[in-house]
Formats: sequence, C-alpha cells, structure tokens
Amino acid sequence: MADTFDPKALWSISYGLYVITSLSDDKLNGQIANTVFQVSADPPRIAVSINKDNLTHEYISKSGMFAVSVLDESTSMPFIGLFGFKTGKDVNKLSQVHYKKGVTGAPIVTDNAISVLEAKVIGKADAGTHTIFIADVVAAEVLRKGKPLTYATYQEIKKGKAPKNAPTYKGPHAEEEHVKAEEGKEGKMQKYVCGICGYVYDPAEGDSEGNIPAGTSFEDIPDDWVCPVCGASKDEFSPEE
Ligand code: FE
Repeated sequence: MADTFDPKALWSISYGLYVITSLSDDKLNGQIANTVFQVSADPPRIAVSINKDNLTHEYISKSGMFAVSVLDESTSMPFIGLFGFKTGKDVNKLSQVHYKKGVTGAPIVTDNAISVLEAKVIGKADAGTHTIFIADVVAAEVLRKGKPLTYATYQEIKKGKAPKNAPTYKGPHAEEEHVKAEEGKEGKMQKYVCGICGYVYDPAEGDSEGNIPAGTSFEDIPDDWVCPVCGASKDEFSPEE
C-alpha cells in the first residue's frame, strides 16, 4: 500500500441501492447491492459486483440470470434489512415481499421499486472476494415516479451500515468513527448499538418506524421491539462506548 492511502477518498464515491434477485431451479433469492452500473448503451449492458459468499452469487452463477430493482428514496429500513442483513440460507426473503416473474424466470421485486431490469449474464470477472457479473439487459420497465435512493442517503439519513459482505464495508473502526462524530450533540442519553448490523439506537431520535418516540431511553423500549435494520431482538444490543 502506498504511503498516501486515505480510505476516506473511497467513501466519496457515489452509488445507488438496489435489490438483486436470481433463481436456482425453483428457489428464489435476493440481496441488496450498491454496485450496479451501466457498462454500455449499445447493446444495453450492465454490471454488478456480488460477494462470493452470498446465496445470490450462487444463484446468478447457476442460472446466468438476475433482476435489478431500483429502490425509491422512501424505502424503509426493515425492507433494506430483509435483503441486506439476512441471508437467504435462513430466510425465504421473497415470501415477505411482492414480486413478479420475469422473462428470465428471475423474481422481480416490485415493492419500493422505481424501475426494474432483467439481465442475462454474458461474462464475469473474478475480483477476489467478489465476482463482477456483466450482463445484457433483456427487459426494462419503469414502475412508478420516484427518486432513486442513493447510498449516501441510506447512510446519512437512514443511518444504514454496510454489511460485512459489501464491497464498501469500512470495517469496525470506521463505524466507531461515525459514532464519535455523532457525539457532541445535545442529549446525553445512552446510545445502543445492534451487534448484528451496527445500527445505532439514538434515544434523542427514537425509531419512528418502530413507533418509538424521540426521547425514549433504550431501557424503556418494549421488549418485543426489533432492530429496524436487521430485525435482531433487543438483547442483541449493547451500550455504545
Ligand atoms: Fe441490526
């Protein structure tokens, strides 16, 4: 590594947020990816980078097909958590959302999607932990008006974290820095961190999606409350230092 290596330079690269779905015979799965981009216009061709450990990677490799749902800015954290912080090895993700079967056979998630694409893999590049799948777009549809969710909005406004398998995962140290940067604001009630996904519960903000009003201490949250990002139970949380 060169002497001048500031990882923050990488953090300023901008991305969107997408659900990538695929199939293996009659099994369906999907995951969140921030790395979809158009490679060429003629023919319309895209690429996506997928972690080799993920079930969706296995399905795309087998079927050679995948679908992309471009998420709207209003997408809720539990929805992102379902696809981003849970594995299809444990959870049937597609059973919990609306989707339609596309021409490729891949399930196309329509919840929260502004537009959807289907793609047929024509090549791939081994990128170490990830494979970059290059694919021809064989179907494309705009479902509704909206504003595409960006990765920056996901992180800043929704307080989303990168799962360990994401190409943009910054490591535990970066999450600590983020939390430290958040301190110094008014309200000194103890923050709690989800041990699964890194979501920070801030009593000053509460959790509107979980009906927890601002000003509620972590101790006063009902026991059946779950992490808005990954669905972990309250006992997975520990005090932020
Ligand atoms: Fe969590």
